[in-house]
Amino acid sequence: MSEVASEAARRRTFAIISHPDAGKTTLTEKLLLFGGAIQMAGSVKGRKAARHATSDWMALEKERGISVTSSVMQFPYEGRIVNLLDTPGHADFGEDTYRVLTAVDSALMVIDVAKGVEERTIKLMEVCRLRDTPIMTFVNKLDREGKDPIDLLDEIESVLGIQCAPVTWPIGMGQRLKGVVHLVSGEVHLYEPGRNFTRQDSTIFPSLEDPGVAAAIGPQLLAEVRDQLELVQGASHPFDQTAYLAGKQSPVFFGSGVNNFGVQPLLDFFVEHAPAPRARATTTRDVAASENKLTGFVFKIQANMDPMHRDRVAFMRVCSGKFSAGMKTFHVRTGKEVKLANALTFMASDREIAESAFPGDVIGIHNHGTISIGDTFSEGEVLSFTGIPSFAPELFRRARLRDPLKLKQLQKGLAQLSEEGATQFFKPMMSNDLILGAVGVLQFDVAAYRLKDEYGVEASFEPVQVATARWIRCDDAKKLEEFREKNALNLSVDASGALVYLAPTRVNLQLAQERAPAVEFLATREHA
Ligand code: GDP
Repeated sequence: MSEVASEAARRRTFAIISHPDAGKTTLTEKLLLFGGAIQMAGSVKGRKAARHATSDWMALEKERGISVTSSVMQFPYEGRIVNLLDTPGHADFGEDTYRVLTAVDSALMVIDVAKGVEERTIKLMEVCRLRDTPIMTFVNKLDREGKDPIDLLDEIESVLGIQCAPVTWPIGMGQRLKGVVHLVSGEVHLYEPGRNFTRQDSTIFPSLEDPGVAAAIGPQLLAEVRDQLELVQGASHPFDQTAYLAGKQSPVFFGSGVNNFGVQPLLDFFVEHAPAPRARATTTRDVAASENKLTGFVFKIQANMDPMHRDRVAFMRVCSGKFSAGMKTFHVRTGKEVKLANALTFMASDREIAESAFPGDVIGIHNHGTISIGDTFSEGEVLSFTGIPSFAPELFRRARLRDPLKLKQLQKGLAQLSEEGATQFFKPMMSNDLILGAVGVLQFDVAAYRLKDEYGVEASFEPVQVATARWIRCDDAKKLEEFREKNALNLSVDASGALVYLAPTRVNLQLAQERAPAVEFLATREHA
């Protein structure tokens, strides 16, 4: 096997998805502990706090009690290299999450045992389904009273439309939580608060029949668990690797993140069964991860991560080949050769200079405004990865400057913030307005805050008569010209210069579409 093929085979690149408060941050932290990536529990939150302290923008995040950014954490575990891509939890930042999900090979869904399937989980699941992303499920907070596990599996199956294959099963819950049974190995892992950090630090019996189990959990609970397991085995599905990889079945684990319980069985199963990077579609062909030439695409741009440097970083997912520091790459959209000298990797503790990276890894490229979300890099081949969506914003506001002399800075600021993808920036053809579109209302606050903080521009955002946006495509140049002339009042260009129809009302949009059948109105602009 080539170096690229064997390195790709041991990569596991995934994201954790959950409704806010289900325990994603806590679980992330525990997973990093297993990877030895951080020394102390609490550092993920500590790291967040340190960032708050150094950045006013992050102070906004703190004020709101939400996470605006998402990050990439890499750690080794059992001979594998795990890349965990964090996704922000707040609904307003969904777009960012969606794009992170295009860069992973699988996902881990965290569900609060008391709350069950929540609204945000449903949305995220829909996105995973678009790409048939394989999903594992962790039912969290078993140390508290919650729903009956069998009911919960039913709920997941019916609400999320995915088969459940329990891999661990809880013994008791809340005050009575005594452990989990591993349905594949048969092992019983006892729940011992304050322990359970590793296998060595846990009491594990080879099976439910072991006399030690009855002694530890008592005959009544043992009988209950036996009954439950009989029910479960009759009603649920055994784990099926093929169905899991096809996104049709989710292996389910039970535990308590904060107590580190049930996490190691999850991680062990994950590194063994979760998919390594697979072939990915481009405009011209499928690219296999094992190919020797480097390819990758940008799924996220984040500005000013480090306020001391004011840099913008483009996050590129490597899809094939090997990245080496300083190598020359081909930026397909601009047709330019780009030397990637100071790319970053994202070890959990810190950003470090990347020496090399393989399929599944993410590198950070310093960006001076030339790189956009969706851009492909290669070693010269002209191809573009497909499927990285740009969502039509649903909310629109006109930027209003306090000091009209700062128009240039305002334009620059809006254009750069739009590069990150959370907001989109439109310039109407017939007026001097600057219109910002967003998926969530909070993004206008973030934009105003950052414009002031990072660009020294005081602006506010006021309502504007725009209901929705559609990207315009038409292969017939003459018809397109006609359309432009007739609809000039409602046409804008976005930050990349693409033509966009800003419809004042839904009815107007419908009429415009009926009148111009040769023109395509696209709700999402797939970055190409
Ligand atoms: P996130 O919003 O999904 O990232 O959730 P967090 O990891 O921040 O957790 C939300 C809250 O649930 C915090 O107060 C955690 O301490 C708590 N929590 C996380 N895991 C558990 C658990 O296993 N049991 C209990 N009782 N609380 C938990």
